[in-house]
Amino acid sequence: MKSGSHQARYYEAGEDGKLHCTLCPHGCKLAAGQRGLCGVRAHVDGQLVSLNYGRAIAVHMDPIEKKPFFHVLPGSRSLSVATVGCNLRCAHCQNHDISQYATRRGEVPGDPTPPEAVVAAAQRGAAATIAFTYTEPTIFIEWAQDIAERAVVAGVRCVSVTNGFVCEKPIRDFDGRLLAANVDLKSFRDEFYQQTCKARLKPVCDTIERMRSLGIWVEVTTLLIPGLNDGPDELRAMARFLVSVDPAMPWHLSRFHPDNEMLDRGSTPVETIARARQIGREAGLRFVYSGNVWGDEGESTFCPACGARLVERVGFAVRSSRIDGQGACPDCGERIEGIWV
Ligand code: SF4
Repeated sequence: MKSGSHQARYYEAGEDGKLHCTLCPHGCKLAAGQRGLCGVRAHVDGQLVSLNYGRAIAVHMDPIEKKPFFHVLPGSRSLSVATVGCNLRCAHCQNHDISQYATRRGEVPGDPTPPEAVVAAAQRGAAATIAFTYTEPTIFIEWAQDIAERAVVAGVRCVSVTNGFVCEKPIRDFDGRLLAANVDLKSFRDEFYQQTCKARLKPVCDTIERMRSLGIWVEVTTLLIPGLNDGPDELRAMARFLVSVDPAMPWHLSRFHPDNEMLDRGSTPVETIARARQIGREAGLRFVYSGNVWGDEGESTFCPACGARLVERVGFAVRSSRIDGQGACPDCGERIEGIWV
């Protein structure tokens, strides 16, 4: 099928005459001609249509550390792709110019890019992975699934950077072709999700648990916003939840910078990141990282058993890696969870 206006995969016809989208927990019910909250799925001629299928708004080669993934093929290249659109409305979104493009302007721009072209570009650029990122992969899931299906044949693996606000079936339908996901856990309060992102917390927690149980490698990122989600009680609750899913899931704690509609507060103090890392480690998480703190020791991977530095990073660059192909610490033999080859 050609790029753009591609039939969507996740919907059913309701008895109310509307099409019910089953892709994300918003569950939009669309009358003829209407678009969903994401701005890129529409009821057209009795079908639900993905308006952004194959319309690439961004195609960049990035270090995989930039996604961020710290336990997936360190130092490798990841061809990163996106379309416009998002199913959330985060007031602090740092990619709002493309994530909110369709809802603000009603248009769905992008270069027609069939799945085969994405896979070929990844191979040409010697990328180990293709990353669905920058905006929200959920809302271009048909394109992402088609890319993943072809990538696996070509020996390129796929990863996703997602807000986690997605239903169960679309994740299952990747059917083993999604190597890893970095899920944004923005807060541990439903009120934050409702007020700041126009979403809800529980479906995101469900996605983290579900992905892990499906064997997808999961890393979690939390952007710490001063005064909104950086309180110790909330961070402790969040860390305890992550430990209950898998204490080996890396947790990335990133500094906020004022952006989009959230210009009323300054950047996250470095001390806040350090305190949050401490809370994560005390809760039992084995790997807790700092993000957007250039040169901080929290960018590196340390052995949780003997404390040896195993992967030294500065920013998105890997300076050295001592983890062997089996994922073991060379000093004490401790197993370091992740995907290393
Ligand atoms: S994917 Fe879009 S149309 Fe579907 S339920 Fe979510 S916001 Fe609504």
